[in-house]
Amino acid sequence: MADTTEKNTATPDDTIFGKIIRGEIKTEFLYKDDKCVAFKDINPVAPIHILIVPIKFITQISEAKEEDEKLLGHLLLVAKKVAEDQKLDKGYRLVINNGKEGQQSVYHLHIHLIGGKQLSWPPC
Ligand code: AMP
Repeated sequence: MADTTEKNTATPDDTIFGKIIRGEIKTEFLYKDDKCVAFKDINPVAPIHILIVPIKFITQISEAKEEDEKLLGHLLLVAKKVAEDQKLDKGYRLVINNGKEGQQSVYHLHIHLIGGKQLSWPPC
């Protein structure tokens, strides 16, 4: 099977999320501050599927550093806020895919916010 994932050699210029953050691909932001943005996933797996993406370029969670501790906490709190904005009061799921076996396809760290229906478990 062809490997269509972006490689872990991505630079800030060559992920689709970098282009979205820099405004090179026009995207409606559901949330934006000086540390992150949130926008709808182009290929939703549920009625609500939103990505929370740090402006800082970190390829994947396994590459995050001690210095990213505050940013990572911020991303979770933003995910919570976006979930509240979307009125996901019955529940939702936050997902970070990491690396090849984690099925990561875009190598710019992001949190998936998924909800709007009864989700199932386990995910695999
Ligand atoms: P992951 O597989 O965890 O790396 O998630 C990457 C996600 O980015 C997938 O769910 C894609 O559908 C989504 N995606 C890819 N390109 C875009 C885009 N241009 N706008 C919004 N979402 C995108």
